[in-house]
Amino acid sequence: MIKSVRLKLTFWYIGSITSLLLLFGLIVYFSLKTILNGNLDKLLYNGGKILERSFSEYMLQHADDPHSLYTIEAGEKTFFIDNIDNEARENFFVDTVYIQLLTFPKAEKISYSIIARTSSLKNRLLPLSPYAYKSCMSHTSFFETLPHLFSFPVRMISLPVYDKDNHSYILQIALSMQHVNNTLEELFFVFCVSFPLVLIVVAGIGHVFMKQAFSPIRRMVAVTRNITSEDLSLRLDPVDSHDEIGELADTLNAMIDRLEQSFQQMTQFSGDVSHELKTPLAQLKCNAEIALRKPRTSGEYQQALRNTIEDTDQLQTIIDDLLFLTKIDSKSWSSSFITVALHEVFLDVFETMYGLVQQKRLAIKFETMDAVLIPGDRGLLRRMFINLISNAIQYTPSGGVIVLSLRKAGHQAVLTITDSGIGIPEAALPHIFDRLYRVDPSRSNDTGGSGLGLAIVDTIVARHNGKILVNSTPGHGTIFQVSFPCFQ
Ligand code: ATP
Ligand code: MG
Repeated sequence: MIKSVRLKLTFWYIGSITSLLLLFGLIVYFSLKTILNGNLDKLLYNGGKILERSFSEYMLQHADDPHSLYTIEAGEKTFFIDNIDNEARENFFVDTVYIQLLTFPKAEKISYSIIARTSSLKNRLLPLSPYAYKSCMSHTSFFETLPHLFSFPVRMISLPVYDKDNHSYILQIALSMQHVNNTLEELFFVFCVSFPLVLIVVAGIGHVFMKQAFSPIRRMVAVTRNITSEDLSLRLDPVDSHDEIGELADTLNAMIDRLEQSFQQMTQFSGDVSHELKTPLAQLKCNAEIALRKPRTSGEYQQALRNTIEDTDQLQTIIDDLLFLTKIDSKSWSSSFITVALHEVFLDVFETMYGLVQQKRLAIKFETMDAVLIPGDRGLLRRMFINLISNAIQYTPSGGVIVLSLRKAGHQAVLTITDSGIGIPEAALPHIFDRLYRVDPSRSNDTGGSGLGLAIVDTIVARHNGKILVNSTPGHGTIFQVSFPCFQ
């Protein structure tokens, strides 16, 4: 098994080039073979036609001689054959051509006599095959290859020729195929030598090319090995090319950025959590130590225990909120979404919190209350309303006003909570959704706030694909506006 992608690609590359070269070699070899054989046939055919004409002319010259053919056989055949030899050399452009002129047998298997033949044939006879005989019978020429007549293969044409009295004969012309075979053998040899050389060169080029193409990846691997949770400051070298490797480097760098940010947030968060838990714990310990310092009355002990319960409650709230945040961070909520009537949840929370509003002597009014249905989780949405309304109550002094509204604008449900409270300084606005952030920690300590309320709201809004906006003027009040995609 090859484990390196670079090697795999190199082998694929070499494999495909080899197949292409083989295919190319086969195409060239067989095309050339067809062309050379075709040319040989053309040569035989054209030469045959010339000889056929020359035979007819010869017969005409001897028109007055009733036994011209026998004359040829008896004495003048040398002349005719010499003529043929000369013309053959001129027409066939080869030194050796084998020609034979036969009487046309009356039937296929009946023997025929040879009227004339070139001296190049020596004591050999050009055979007359049944196919050639049938072709000549139907006045067409016939090509065949004779592999064993000589020590080399020959290609032969058999064609019918006619004398002045329309007696028919068969003219057979054969040419050696040796030069065709030699050419093909040489070509085969050239291929056998050049293919491995080409492959070696191509493999070398492929190897160098792949090495170069994969060098950014090797560098990435080396850098990535050194990136640990302790040191996320390293980044992959930016790759100049805008190809997939460049894109991969950019994506990985962006991922490391996000990881570094998350790690920083986690470190900061765990620091903040320990700090946040330290205060109520120290307070708990301090209360107990004070209570134990000297003998107390039962009323004093009761007060100390009440303080302990209060501090424990605060700890409990922080831990509950942190656990809740971890839960909404890790769970995929959208799968459990149902259709929620947002106005009903809003009114329900309002009723629950109305006691607090009265206690603090605040005026609360509804501006608009449209019926809105959204896909969501009722429990999460309820928690969001509680956190936003309790902030409005908490940070608005007595006598202040809180205005609630829920509007439907097309596909959006827009919820607004406006208070006439203390407001949020501009510098604090970008941080109010951070976990454990409080504008004024000392004041929030009085109210028992831990700075997790808006972080929870922000996460719930994000889980419902919503948006949250805040607008605040210190000393005048704050507006929180949340919008969710809703059903028509
Ligand atoms: P808790 O976790 O109990 O909600 P908290 O109210 O301090 O504590 P958040 O609700 O996250 O925390 O709010 C963060 C900070 O934003 C608060 O400390 C407060 O200073 C400021 N804040 C939030 N809502 C308002 C508001 N309506 N008016 C003025 N300040 C606000
Ligand atoms: Mg709050």
